[in-house]
Parts: sequence; structure tokens; C-alpha cells
Amino acid sequence: MHKSKTGVCHLLLFLGLMFTLLCMRSAYADEQRELQAVFDIFSVADSDNARALQQLEQLYRQQDASTSIPVRLTTLRALYHLHAELGNNSAAQLFLSAMRKLAIDSGDKDALLMADVILAYQKYSSGQPAQALKELTQLLDNLHANVSDDAKFRLYGALGAMHFVMGNYEASLRFYHDVLRLTDKLPYRREQNRIFMLEGLAQLYIAMRDPEKSLQTVNEAMALTPYSRAPKNYASLLIDEGGALTLLGRDEQALDAYRRALKIARDSHLEETELNCLLYISTYYLQKHDYKSAEANARLAFQLTTQFPDSSYIRGTKANIGFALLGQGKISQGAELVNEALKITTATGQKNEAEQILEQLAAIYEHAGMYKEALAALRQHQEFSAELFRADRSKAIAAMQEQFQSEQKQKQIALLERDYALKDADLQTQLLHQRVTMLIAGMIVVAGIFIFVLYRRVSQTNQKLREANTQLEFHAVHDPLTGLHNRRSFVDMMKHRQDCQSQERRSLDMDSPDCLILLDIDHFKQINDTLGHAAGDVVLVEVARRLRAAVRDSDMVLRWGGEEFLVYSPKSQYVQVLTLVERVLYAIGEKRIHAGGRDIQVTVSAGFIALPFSGVSESQLNWEKVLQIADMALYLGKVNGRNRAYGVSELLVAPDLALPILEQDLAAAIDADMVSLTEVEGPPRFEQTIFDKHTKKEQNELLAL
Ligand code: GH3
Ligand code: MG
Ligand code: MG
Repeated sequence: MHKSKTGVCHLLLFLGLMFTLLCMRSAYADEQRELQAVFDIFSVADSDNARALQQLEQLYRQQDASTSIPVRLTTLRALYHLHAELGNNSAAQLFLSAMRKLAIDSGDKDALLMADVILAYQKYSSGQPAQALKELTQLLDNLHANVSDDAKFRLYGALGAMHFVMGNYEASLRFYHDVLRLTDKLPYRREQNRIFMLEGLAQLYIAMRDPEKSLQTVNEAMALTPYSRAPKNYASLLIDEGGALTLLGRDEQALDAYRRALKIARDSHLEETELNCLLYISTYYLQKHDYKSAEANARLAFQLTTQFPDSSYIRGTKANIGFALLGQGKISQGAELVNEALKITTATGQKNEAEQILEQLAAIYEHAGMYKEALAALRQHQEFSAELFRADRSKAIAAMQEQFQSEQKQKQIALLERDYALKDADLQTQLLHQRVTMLIAGMIVVAGIFIFVLYRRVSQTNQKLREANTQLEFHAVHDPLTGLHNRRSFVDMMKHRQDCQSQERRSLDMDSPDCLILLDIDHFKQINDTLGHAAGDVVLVEVARRLRAAVRDSDMVLRWGGEEFLVYSPKSQYVQVLTLVERVLYAIGEKRIHAGGRDIQVTVSAGFIALPFSGVSESQLNWEKVLQIADMALYLGKVNGRNRAYGVSELLVAPDLALPILEQDLAAAIDADMVSLTEVEGPPRFEQTIFDKHTKKEQNELLAL
């Protein structure tokens, strides 16, 4: 009793555990699905920010306290980004605060880090890049254990960008390399994030005066995604391409790249990208000393800056307008704008931008013939340049570059090896397939041959069987010695004749009946006894041959038994039968037969009769009875000297009267004149008989017969 209770408890515990696990599993699956939905919206944002925001807000409205914390955090972060990109700064800020609060409340350190990275980055947007870098560096120093790759990715990316702005190219490059290493480990949007970071790297290379590497990076990024999937990234990459091409002196191509980027930005309503494009186009015109075009583009860009309070945009557009004015001879107005920008960049330590401004300024002063000012700008520019491109730093950068590239190469080699391994496995599978196919083909061939051999054997056996059957059939109806039909075949034929014969046919048969001639070799026993059984056989064969030759083709000759033969001659007139009987007697007896070393005359006695007999129907007097009468007629031949035939020609009295006697005793019927009889004589006997060469005693014996 106690035991079973424990069992039930265990079972309940087990079931409870299973249920919890199932719930956890399904909750996990739900969470993954919901997270994926947010990431999918991020992908929509790659090409259409407004639509993405609409979808995201709908998703956000559906969420409540029961929604999992990671899903809510990710949604809030996405809401911040989309609003910020659309220039809705207050809304963006609201969502960022909500995200940060939820991260703190739920103790999600990764989410908190991501929020702090954004906050730090915002310092740069508001014109405090050094502060931004400081805060980001602090976040890096205080990085919590088990930080997620995703959070680390955000921090490193921001650090790469901020070091770039501050002209710390070496550090920037290191962070960009680190961040690119991390992209493979991201839980989602790996491709897009990699493109994003490659774009930053391409910009860095331009700043580092390495256009080839920049183009290479741009191409690598462009190869990752089709333009249609990520127009924002694609446009940014085109801007970088333009920058690299400018450095290479391929100005026209550079302008073309910028214009393509501008078209994409306008088509896809990417205002921030559009602003950037206009800024770069204006810079292009500045370099070409087309100050009017430069000013026009810079002013277009400036109109867009109201939406994007990032101070670098305002500064950039202002500087370009200033440059354009300077170029057009509006010195004080232009210089004021440029100097304002220069002052800010210098003060905030944005060496990269300051260097670019000074370079541009020197070129414009020079072009305007203001050499003193040009020289001053150039000197200042050189200071920055020297700082940015110190020889030892270049070495360090080169070494870092080398290491990163070798890593990338190793990765490529590893990928290639994996690819080869796959191909090798493929090849092995193919080989295996080939072998299996060949084996099957071989088996089919062997089976085919086997079946063919079997088939041939079977058909040979069948052929033999058929032959054997034919032989059996032949032997069943033929006499093996003479080859004539045997008694059985005649009996069968007569049975068949009875079965098939119609009444009409039978009455027809009365007019032209069939004829039966029964023959028996005379003194055959003597031939056997005197010349041997073999000689007897020879005689039988020869008699059969002569018989066959003597009758019509339509007549049938049978060996009735022993040395008796039967000729069945269908539809024969009685007169014709007489001729036939005579021909038969002569055919056999007219010429000697060579047997047992002798030439002997062999004669036969016969009895013949019509079937049906004398108008008596076969039902009344069947073939057997008719043949019996023929046998009696034959006997008459024997007793009347042999070598002759007797035919029972017709009834002379009514059948009812005649038949009872005739069937029993032909001689009595003849005596009572009930039937008429015809005699046919055989050929003349030779004087010299087979016994000629026998002794006197033998002759006497034979003659006595
Ligand atoms: P008959 O003129 O009265 O007919 O005299 P017969 O000697 O012919 O008398 P019977 O008809 O009684 O003799 C038949 C003999 O034919 C007896 C038998 O030995 C012989 N015989 C039967 N079949 C064969 C055979 O296949 N081969 C040989 N060689 N002899 C056979
Ligand atoms: Mg006989
Ligand atoms: Mg006989």
C-alpha cells in the first residue's frame, strides 16, 4: 500500500516535471518566434523605415506584461532605432529610456549595456565626441562577465566609429576588426550587421588615404547582399566608393557613385542618406572649383539637417557652404562659416574632420590666389596629418592589418577546405552511386543471362516435350512397325464419326457409303516360322507400303492387328470398290517380296462391305457389326482357297429378317439368300513358291498346308 502511494507520487512528480518542461519549451519557442518577428521588421527597415515603424508599433501595442522581457527589450530598442533614423528624436528618446528602465528592472545587463552604448553615442551626435569616446571606453572597461556577443558587437562598433572620428585610426581599425570577427557569432541579421561594419571600415580606409583597401572593402560588402534588400547600406557603400575613387583621381566615376547613391536614397526615402550624398557631391564640386554647384548641393543638404540634429551634419554643410562662398570670392562670409566648423572640430578633437576642412581650405585659398592664407591652412593641416599618420603608427596599423588579413585568409582557407571536403564527400557519394549503379547493371546483366539460359532450357525442354508429345500422339495412333494408323485411331475416328454425323449426312451416306476392306495375310505364321520373325516383320512393312500405294490418298490404311489390315475408303461406289479390292490384292501379291534372304509371293484374303450397309442405318447396324460381317467374308476367302476377297454387297430381304442371321453367320445368310456376295480373285500364284529351295520334306509340309 505504502509502495504504491510512493509510485503514484513519483508518477505525479514525473508528469509535473514533463509538463513544466513542455511549458518551458513552448514558452521558449514562443519567445524565439516573437523575437524573429522584431528582427524581420528590422529587415523591412533596410528598405522602408516608415513601413517598418508602422509594423513595429502594431507589434508593440499587442505586447503586455505577459510578453517576455527579451522580446519587450528588443522591441523597445528597435522602436528607438527606427524613430531616430526617421528623425523623430523625442519619440526615440522616450523608447530608449523605457528600454533602459526595463533593462535595469529586469536585471538584463546586456540590454542595459546596449542602451548605454546608444546614450554614449548620442553625445557624439550632440557635438561631444570626446565625451562619447570616454563613456564608451568606460563601458568597455566595466564590461560585465558573460557579456553577449550582440551587446559586445554594439559597443565595439560604436568604439570603432568614435575612434575614427577622433582620428585614432589605429584603435578604430582594431575595433572594426574585432567587430567583424564578432558578426559571425550574432544571433540574427549577421549579413546586415557585417555590411554595416564594413561600410564603417571603408570610410576609415578613405580617411587613412588607402583608397584601394576602401574599394576592396566596399566590394566585399556589396557582394554580401543585393541592392534591393538593403538600399540604405548600398547607398552608404556607394558614397564610400565615391570617396575612394576621388582619392584615386577617378573623379567622374566618383561623382557617378555619389549620384547613384543619391537616387537610391531618394527612391527609398532615406533622408539621412540623401543628406550625406548631397554633402559629398558638394565636396566633389568644391574640389572641381565649381563653387556654385557646390553651394547649391550644400544648401540642399542643409535643409535636411533640421531633421537630423547630429551636429556633424550641420557643421559639414555649413563648412561646405563656407568653402563655396570663399571660392566665389565672398571671403568674409565664407571664412566665417568655415572657421566656425574648424573651431568646433579642433575644440572637440575631431581630428579627422579638422584635417579634411584644412585641406579643403588650403586648396580654395590657393585657387583664389590667397597664398598667405593657403599656406597657414596648409601648415595647420600638416600638423594634423602628421599626427594622424605618424610613421610608427602606420607600422602598427600595417601589422594589425596583416594579422587581420591573415585571419581572414585562414578563414577563407578553412571555408575552402570545408568546401573541398564537401565536394570530396560529394565525389565519394557519386563514386558510390556509380559503383552501385554498375553493380546493379551487372546484376541485371547476369540475371538477364541467367533468365535467358533458363528460358532457353525451358524452351528446349518444351520443344523436347512437344516432340515427345507428338511422338506419343503419333505412337498412340500409329503402328510403330509399319507406320500405319492403328486400330485405336480407327476406333476413335468411328466414335467421332458417330458423334458428329447428322441425320442428313447419314441419309446421304446411303447413296455413297464408305467401304471397309479387312485383309489378312495368308499363311503368315509359316513365313515367320520358316524365315524368322524378322523376315515376317519385313513382309509386314512391305505389305503395308504396297497397300498404301494401292489406295487413294483419301483412303485410310490401318494395321488392324498382327498381320491383319483394314482399308477404310470413304464415299466409294460399289463398282469402284471392286476395282480397289482387286488393285489391293494385286498390289500385294503380284510381285514377290524380298525377306529373310528370299523372294516370296505374299497373298492376302479379304472381306469387304459398305458402311452403312445396304441402306440399313448405322444405328441399326453399326460399324462394329459391319466389320464383323466383313471378317466373316474374309473367313470365306480363307476357306475358299485364300488370295481372294469376298464382298457382302446387299441385303436381299428386309433387314429385320436378315440381320439377326447375318450378324451371327454369313454363310447361313448366304445360304438363305438373304445377302448377295461378290468375289474378287487375287493375282495368279507363281509356280515357284518361297518354298522352292526347301527340302522335299519341307515342301511336302508346306504343301500340306
Ligand atoms: P491364315 O492364312 O489362316 O491367316 O494363316 P496364318 O498363318 O496367317 O494364321 P494366323 O492369322 O493365325 O497367324 C497369324 C500369325 O502372325 C501369328 C503371329 O505369330 C504372327 N504375327 C502377329 N503379329 C506379328 C508381328 O508383328 N510380326 C511377325 N513377324 N509376326 C506376327
Ligand atoms: Mg490372322
Ligand atoms: Mg493370316
